[in-house]
Amino acid sequence: MASTKPRAEFPRAVVRTVAKRSAYRCSFPDCDRTTTGPGASEDQIATTGKAAHIYGARDGGPRGSGGLSFEERQGTANAIWLCAEHAERIDKNNGSEFPAATLKAYKRMHEEKIRCEAGGIGLKAGWIHSLSIDHAPIFRTPAEIQFGKVTVLHGDNGSGKTALCDWLQGMSDPSALSRWADAKKAGNLSFEGSSPKSVIAVEAL
Ligand SMILES: [Zn+2]
Repeated sequence: MASTKPRAEFPRAVVRTVAKRSAYRCSFPDCDRTTTGPGASEDQIATTGKAAHIYGARDGGPRGSGGLSFEERQGTANAIWLCAEHAERIDKNNGSEFPAATLKAYKRMHEEKIRCEAGGIGLKAGWIHSLSIDHAPIFRTPAEIQFGKVTVLHGDNGSGKTALCDWLQGMSDPSALSRWADAKKAGNLSFEGSSPKSVIAVEAL
């Protein structure tokens, strides 16, 4: 039986804002599909993307309500721009594979990429799936770390959590690696990250 609870639909202005902040491209990692283009006639536009709900449009919907009011669930902060395929995928199995925190991270990363592109700054790295370490002063090497949708780094002080974060950040921002310059010069630091489409070797030290 269809739910009688009202859906927190996004107003058109919210849909437009989220679409434009995403440059009309899917926010799902490594999809990046363009979701708007020419329609059938000269004055038509074909839009295939969708503003998807991070917390559910209905109470009891995928990912729950997150404690947000109905109005808050209609707001820009609760929307992520996705292609039709990924909008459908995130709601499968009642959203259990894609918690709200994961979708927020996808959205933040995509918008950051668009912000950089719009500002003329090229990003070397996108979604990093793994980090291979050949040489490093603080790890037994060679080592490889696989990252999930959410990865928790846990360990005592000095166990290398900050180093890993520095190296990941260094794939798009070499200045994050400045404190590792001596290790690199001494030949004691060598690593690379992998995304599904490329391997990012970091040489800018
Ligand atoms: Zn997509």
